[in-house]
Amino acid sequence: MNDLATSDAHAVPTLDVTAVRDDFPILARQVHGQPLVYFDNAATSQAPRQVIEVFDDYYGRYNANIHRGLHTLADEATAAFEGTRDTVRAFLNAADSREIVFTRGTTEAINLVAHAWGRANLGAGDEVLISRLEHHSNIVPWQLLARELGFTIKVIPVDERGVLDIEAYRALFTERTRLVAVNHVSNAFGTVNPVREMARIAHDHGARILVDGAQAVPHQAVDVRDIDADFYAFSGHKVYGPTGAGVLYGKAELLEAMPPWQGGGEMIATVSFERETTFADIPHKFEAGTPAIAEVIALGAALDWVSRIGIDAIAAWEGRLLTYATQRMSRIDGLRILGTAPDKAGVLSFVVDGAHAQDIGLLIDQLGVAIRTGHHCAQPLLHHFGVEATCRASFAAYNTLEEIDVFTQALERVIGMVR
Ligand code: PMP
Repeated sequence: MNDLATSDAHAVPTLDVTAVRDDFPILARQVHGQPLVYFDNAATSQAPRQVIEVFDDYYGRYNANIHRGLHTLADEATAAFEGTRDTVRAFLNAADSREIVFTRGTTEAINLVAHAWGRANLGAGDEVLISRLEHHSNIVPWQLLARELGFTIKVIPVDERGVLDIEAYRALFTERTRLVAVNHVSNAFGTVNPVREMARIAHDHGARILVDGAQAVPHQAVDVRDIDADFYAFSGHKVYGPTGAGVLYGKAELLEAMPPWQGGGEMIATVSFERETTFADIPHKFEAGTPAIAEVIALGAALDWVSRIGIDAIAAWEGRLLTYATQRMSRIDGLRILGTAPDKAGVLSFVVDGAHAQDIGLLIDQLGVAIRTGHHCAQPLLHHFGVEATCRASFAAYNTLEEIDVFTQALERVIGMVR
C-alpha cells in the first residue's frame, strides 16, 4: 500500500487530493488574478516536484552522455536512464525491458512502427484498419506510408455515443489485413476502447495491433501482456512527466525482426565501409543518437509518483470527477456533451448552442480556467459529428470537485456573455 492511498479488500482505493496537490507547485499560481483551474490534462499534464527535481539533480550532479563513457558521471547517467527502462517495463507489465524503446513521445513511437515495421510488412493490396476515433498522429503516418507503398486504409466506424462498432470492426477483416492501429482511450471523447478484445480479433485474423496509449497510461492500469498488444505507445508529458520522452513497447520477436528506422550513433554494433554495417541489439537498435537523458529519467520519476499514489486510486478519483462534472454540465441550458460512451476516461467534450468554442475558451481563461478548444487533432471524428470544434475539459489526479464547481459556474457566466 502507498502513503497517499487507502484501500481494503472491498473498497475502491481513494487518494488524498490535498496531499496530491501539494506535490504540484504550478497549482498554486494564479491566472488573471484567479486561482488556476487546470482542465487541459489531455493535452499535457502538470509535473510534480519529484519530476521537476530530476532536472536540477541531473544537470547539477551527473550530466553525461550515456552508454559510451567509462567515467563515473557517464556510469551514473547510464544507470539512471536504463533504470527507467525497467520502471517502464514494470509499469506496463512487459516481459522484458528490451521491449521498451524510448522515443520523443507517442507520435515518434507510431512513426517508428510505420517506418520500421510498416516498410518491412506492408505492400500494395494490404490493408490497415484504423478507427474514426484516432488522433491525427495515428492517422497521418499511415496515410503517408500508404501513399508510398500502396496499401489501403479502412476505417472502423463509431456509433452516436462515440463507441467503436465491434461487429463492423470484425467485418472489416480480410486475408489482406495486416495491422490494426487504434487508441486505447480517445483524446477527443474519452471513449475507452476494448483493446484486449480488439487484439484477440486482430490476432485471430493473423494481423498485428498497435495501441496508442497516450490517453490510457495516465488514467488506468495498463498491462500490455494482458491486452496482448504487439505495439503500445505513450508520451511522458501526459503522465505527469516532461515533454520530449515517450515509449514504444514492442514484442521482442517483432522488434528483433524489424530493420532500424533512424541511423546514427548508439544504434550500431560495427560500422564499416568495407563490410555491412551491423546493428545493436534491441532496444538500442531503435535509439539512434543521444536521447533526451534527463527527460527519460524524469519520466521514470513520474511513473514512480503514479505508482506511489496508485493508478487504481487515480482512476477511481477521476471517475468521480467525471461523474460529477457530467451531472453539473448536463444542467447547463444548450450545452451538449459529445462522447457518451459507458466506459469513459475523464474527458468532457462539449458544444454550446449559439456560442463558438473559441470564444468560450478565451473568456473562461479570463476566469482562471484552462480548457482546450478546437479539433483536438481528431478532425475525422469531429466532422463525423458535424462540428469543427468543441471545448474539452479533461481531468487529472490533482483536480477537485470544488474546481468543477468553479468551472461550471464560470461556464454559465461565459455562455451568458457570448449568447
Ligand atoms: N495519441 C493521442 C490519443 C493523444 O492524445 C496524443 C496527444 N494529444 C497523441 C497521440 C500525440 O502525442 P504526442 O504529441 O505526445 O506525441
